[in-house]
Amino acid sequence: MAQSQVCKNYVNGGFIQSDERLDVTNPANEKLIAHSADSSDDEVNAAVAAAKAAQSSWARKAPVERAQYLREIAARIRSASAHLARTISTEQGKVIGLAEAEVEFAAAYFEYTAEWARRLDGEIITSDRPDEHIFLRYKPIGVVAGILPWNFPFFLIARKTAPALLTGNTIIIKPSELTPINAFEFAKLIDSTDLPSGVFNLVGGRGQTTGDALSKHPDVGLITFTGSIATGRSIMRAAAENITKVNLELGGKAPVIILADADIDFAVSKVVESRIINSGQVCNCAERVYVEERVVDAFVDKLISVMSSVKYGDPIAAFERGEELDMGPLVSEDALDKVSMLVDAARTDGASVLLGGDRDDSGPGYHYRPTVLADCHDDMRIMREEVFGPVLPVRRISDLDEGIAFANASTMGLTSSIFTNNLNAAMKASRELLFGETYINREHMEAFQGFHAGVRQSGIGGADGKHGLYEFMQSHVTYIQET
Ligand code: NAD
Repeated sequence: MAQSQVCKNYVNGGFIQSDERLDVTNPANEKLIAHSADSSDDEVNAAVAAAKAAQSSWARKAPVERAQYLREIAARIRSASAHLARTISTEQGKVIGLAEAEVEFAAAYFEYTAEWARRLDGEIITSDRPDEHIFLRYKPIGVVAGILPWNFPFFLIARKTAPALLTGNTIIIKPSELTPINAFEFAKLIDSTDLPSGVFNLVGGRGQTTGDALSKHPDVGLITFTGSIATGRSIMRAAAENITKVNLELGGKAPVIILADADIDFAVSKVVESRIINSGQVCNCAERVYVEERVVDAFVDKLISVMSSVKYGDPIAAFERGEELDMGPLVSEDALDKVSMLVDAARTDGASVLLGGDRDDSGPGYHYRPTVLADCHDDMRIMREEVFGPVLPVRRISDLDEGIAFANASTMGLTSSIFTNNLNAAMKASRELLFGETYINREHMEAFQGFHAGVRQSGIGGADGKHGLYEFMQSHVTYIQET
């Protein structure tokens, strides 16, 4: 990647340089690597106008034809996978192996979504009248705005763009200002296809300006947003102006329940996997661990042993040495400050720091040591607020009921998990945990064909599978009376 490249907007099939620019840095070494567009209201308006103008002819194409474009995009992604993975790793800080997986997931997501082209079915509804036919069909919403976070920036382009395009919408993507380069690279791939101009558009910029302009634009029919709860609230407020539909994938505070009959070694390995992936910066990451008291000491001992073997550092430097790390840095200094603040507060409130507990200042970059906290209780901020870092706070529980009660006592409700070999306990947890997803004896990570959706403040609507696809469509009912 060229040093300090400029990430342009992509509007109506052409690249346009924005007047304003934002700096983009590599979080592993704090070096400036690029400049992104910082789009004004006028630049947003131009992108929405292009998407609106392109939408009706795009929607008139048969879904199978639109699906062919999705397959072509998947092929272009695969052909550039090494470059894309390195780009993602450099601007976001994830390890190369995970960046490669992200690129592959994005390509596979376009292909998976293309498979739905022959299944965008409606319904025939029974009428109360003789010789009347009632049809419910699904139509595109129109122009979709996809506002993205930085943690899986490339995959999320696919998660927004593939269903929007398959269902006949056009889209404007706004990447996070921290990770705009991969989106610019994606726009270059789109430009190398013959996707009609205006169907896919990209505008870079800050949330409170560019993101807000998109959210309150009267010609945007759906805002599909992934990011923090605070931003979700701002977007809802902006969307309220035009009663624009919102689809919100927000933060989580995923509980893990470990019962005494579980395979403890296996549970430890899966909990660590679910926490250190992407340096703990995943919405469904294991955020708090409730362990039955009979096994809590054994669990914590093993947890310290596995967490202390986690290798972290600069992912690109390690890759060039032929070494693969378990995790990279946090994405920014703000993220590092937040994790440090929550761990320090837990320590002050009586948690025992058994491993880590501080940032690694031995070199440049936003590195936080793998951390294990014991003796946590539910009044601590570390048990209530999203940490988004490599920190595992552990609390003892007397039984499953207590674990479920603590798990549910949260303002968030995205993912949850339980480790047990007792079928009845697993089924009770799946029934009573008030979350969008529950993983039983496995790591926290969803599948394309599921439905990733949070309850309470974790969001509105969801993504993936059939139900995710239908979020991008509007129902329409036709009544036909034979005369
Ligand atoms: P963020 O909310 O800070 O930013 C996300 C995006 O919103 C960025 O593009 C930003 O520019 C934009 N934005 C900020 N303010 C805005 C405004 N007023 N109007 C419109 N857009 C605005 O989130 P982040 O730090 O990038 O991402 C981390 C968060 O995302 C975490 O809370 C994580 O849990 C959540 N997340 C959720 C899921 C999920 O599927 N539920 C997946 C990934 C990340």
